[in-house]
Amino acid sequence: KLHNTIQELKGNIRVFCRVRPPLPQEAEDKDGVLSHLSFAEDDEKAIELKQSVESASGQKTVEKTYPFSFDRVFQPGTPQAAVFDEISQLVQSALDGYNVCIFAYGQTGSGKTFTMEGPENALERPEDMGMIPRAVHQVFESAAALREKGWAYEMEAQFLEIYNEGIRDLVATGGPAADASGKHEIKHHPATGKTSVTELCTFPVTTPQQVHSILKKASQNRAVAATNCNERSSRSHSVFTLRMTGTNALTGESSSGVLNLIDLAGSERLSSSGSTGDRLKETQAINKSLSSLGDVINALASGEKHIPYRNSKLTYLLQSSLGGNSKTLMFVNVSPLATNFQETLCSLRFATKVN
Ligand code: ADP
Ligand code: MG
Repeated sequence: KLHNTIQELKGNIRVFCRVRPPLPQEAEDKDGVLSHLSFAEDDEKAIELKQSVESASGQKTVEKTYPFSFDRVFQPGTPQAAVFDEISQLVQSALDGYNVCIFAYGQTGSGKTFTMEGPENALERPEDMGMIPRAVHQVFESAAALREKGWAYEMEAQFLEIYNEGIRDLVATGGPAADASGKHEIKHHPATGKTSVTELCTFPVTTPQQVHSILKKASQNRAVAATNCNERSSRSHSVFTLRMTGTNALTGESSSGVLNLIDLAGSERLSSSGSTGDRLKETQAINKSLSSLGDVINALASGEKHIPYRNSKLTYLLQSSLGGNSKTLMFVNVSPLATNFQETLCSLRFATKVN
C-alpha cells in the first residue's frame, strides 16, 4: 500500500533529459563534443557518461561509465515540436484544474532558455519556439475548443524573477531595476489554497499575442551578468505563471489550474564560476534555492509528512504547485562539451535524486 502511494506521488514527478547539439563553432572539435556521452538505440530513457581514467597501477587507461535513466532522454537534434509533444498532456491538465510546474535545470549554456522560450530570433524561426509559447498557444486553442462544451476560461499571466532570494517583477513598468527590492511578498491564502505575490503586475490575457508581448518585455528585463561560463549567464530563476479559471454554464462545474514554467538559474558550482564578492553571494543564493528545490521534490516523492517549502523563496512561491493536486516535470539540460563532463555528471545526479 505504502509502495503504491509512493508510486502515485512519483507518477506526478517526471524528469526529461535533453542534450543540446553542439554550436557550429563547437562542432569543429570532434573529440571535444559528445564523445563522452552515449545513447541507447532501443531505449529512449537511457544516457551514459564515459570517462577515461588511469587504472590503479597507473599502467593503462580504463573507461569508467556512469549510466543514467530518465523518463525520456532527448538526443541532440530533437526538434522543439517533438519535445513539446511529450509535455502537451501535462500542459493540458492545467485546464482541468491541476497545478503544473515545468522546470529547466542545468548549467549555464546547456539550453534551458532555448528549451523554455526558444532562441532570440524565434520569431523568424517559428519551428524553434520554446515550451512557453507552445504551451500558451495550446492552452488558448484548447480553451476555445472547450467553449462548445460550455466552458468559459479566464486567464491571467505574470512573470517574475527570483534574484538573490528577492522577488522582482519582470513586467513592471520601468523594469526590475526600478522595482524597489523588498516590496514583493509571497502570501498563501489557506482558504483558497492560492498563492499571490504582493504588488505584482498580473495581466488578464485573452490572446496568445498578449502573452507574447509579456514574454518579450520580460526577456528584455531579465537580469544578466557576465561569468566565466557565458557572457549572458542568467543568475536568477524566472517564473512564468498562467492561471486559468474555468466555469461551465451548461454543467455548473468549475475548475482552477495554474501553469508555472520556470527557467532556473545556472546550476554550475562555485569553483567553475570563479566567483567573488557580489557574484559569490549570487552563487550561494542559487545553490541554496536549487538544493531546496531538490529537497522538496525528494520529500514529496518519498511521501514525507514535512515538506521543507520554507527553505527558499522559489519553493515557498511554488508551494501550492508542488505536491498535493499538482504535476511536476523537470528538464535536465545537458551540454554536449566534454569539458563540461563534471557539471554534466552533477546535473544528471541531481536529476536522478528528484526522479
Ligand atoms: P542556458 O539558458 O542554459 O544558459 P541557452 O538556452 O542560452 O542556455 O543555450 C546556449 C546556446 O545553445 C544558445 O546559443 C542556444 O541558442 C543554443 N541551443 C541550446 N539548445 C539548443 C537546441 N536544442 N538546438 C539548437 N541550439 C540550441
Ligand atoms: Mg538562459
